Amino acid sequence: MKVAFIGTGNMGAPMARNLADAGHEVTGFDTQAPMPDGVLVAASATDAVKDAEVAVTMLPNGEILRAVVAEILPAMAPGAVLLDCSTVDVDSARAVAREAAAQGRRFLDAPVSGGVGGADAGTLTFMVGGAEDALATARPLLEVMGARIVHCGEAGAGQAAKICNNMILGATMVATCEAFALADRLGLDRQAMFDVVSTSSGQSWSMNTYCPAPGVGPTSPADNDYRPGFAAELMLKDLGLAAQAAEAVGATTPMGAAALAEYRTFVEQEDGKGRDFSAMLPRFAGKPGDR
Ligand code: NAD
Repeated sequence: MKVAFIGTGNMGAPMARNLADAGHEVTGFDTQAPMPDGVLVAASATDAVKDAEVAVTMLPNGEILRAVVAEILPAMAPGAVLLDCSTVDVDSARAVAREAAAQGRRFLDAPVSGGVGGADAGTLTFMVGGAEDALATARPLLEVMGARIVHCGEAGAGQAAKICNNMILGATMVATCEAFALADRLGLDRQAMFDVVSTSSGQSWSMNTYCPAPGVGPTSPADNDYRPGFAAELMLKDLGLAAQAAEAVGATTPMGAAALAEYRTFVEQEDGKGRDFSAMLPRFAGKPGDR
């Protein structure tokens, strides 16, 4: 397939490379990042998309997505699919979907989970919003870049699923870390805490698969000095998107709001930026007077 790829950063570069390695003709554009091996370099975003059957975008946020889409939609072939894999606000995804439909192009929001490791290995999970026919066109590409594709509903449903999932993740990670810190102060061994909780009703992905305590449970960023993994500032972004969406539809999300406040303080006022989001544990485990 002829594919355009806009945004070859940490995630986009390995995704584009996997598409090229699978035999697709990939032309890419990024304002800063280089193109990975096997991907042709376009002079502009409009140049990249002009012959593409599918144009993939992997960009930092909704504002940039809207600006890029306004530029590329008129240059895309009628009926071509715009496949946005970025994590953006639900409103931007729906606005871009409306704009694409008005110009006779098809749109899918398809945010991912799995991080840079999943992008590299081609094992991402895609949460897809949009029409069945557009998904049928994009599916061969999604199958190269990912291991799991879930069609969540109409445009915006992929982003909705992503932020709901990550709101649960953020809240459970904070809860898991504060519980470890409490266990420390109660004199409970971390390994014993893991052995109990990971097989009891307190279990979660944060505890069982991504344990924030070094040397306990499966290998995780905690065992690598909390190098990401999934960076705290990306969790902050996703919790912000969840809060924005909750406000827009009048949903009550007190745990999401509490997790957002913790990550905001950690990233913006402490040393959280560039650290894994599980580094909440050493933060909570500091001396009582520290916080
Ligand atoms: P990144 O900042 O490494 O990559 C974004 C790229 O977009 C950059 O290379 C940047 O130069 C490029 N860009 C910005 N404006 C542009 C424009 N106008 N035209 C062309 N290129 C432009 O970010 P990333 O980590 O690759 O994340 C991309 C998206 O994936 C984000 O929405 C993020 O929330 C989401 N995401 C990231 C992860 C992760 O672990 N990194 C996991 C899941 C989802």
